[in-house]
Amino acid sequence: MLSPSGWAEVPCAACGTRVRGLAWGEICPDCRARRASRATRLARRISLPATLLVGLYVALRVPLSVPLARIYGVIAVLVTYIVVRKVVHRVTMEWYSR
Ligand SMILES: [Zn+2]
Repeated sequence: MLSPSGWAEVPCAACGTRVRGLAWGEICPDCRARRASRATRLARRISLPATLLVGLYVALRVPLSVPLARIYGVIAVLVTYIVVRKVVHRVTMEWYSR
C-alpha cells in the first residue's frame, strides 16, 4: 500500500525510521542495503562450495577423450555458480524480510 501520495513520512518496517515516500510495510533504503549485503555474503559462501563440487565432478568424471564434454563441463560450472548465487541471494532476501 502506498503512502499518502508520497508526501507523508512512513516508518520503516525494520528500524522504525520515518522515510518520506516509503510505502506502508516496506523497509528503508538503508535496511534494504544492509539485507542485500548480508544476502550477498551468504550467497557467496554457499555458491563457492557448490561450484567447487561441480568442478570436482567435471574434473574427475568427464572423460578427457571428449573435448566437447569438457567444454560443456566448464559451462556447467559457470552456470552453477551464477544460478546458485542468484537463488540463494533471492531466498535470503525473502527470508530476512520476515
Ligand atoms: Zn529501516
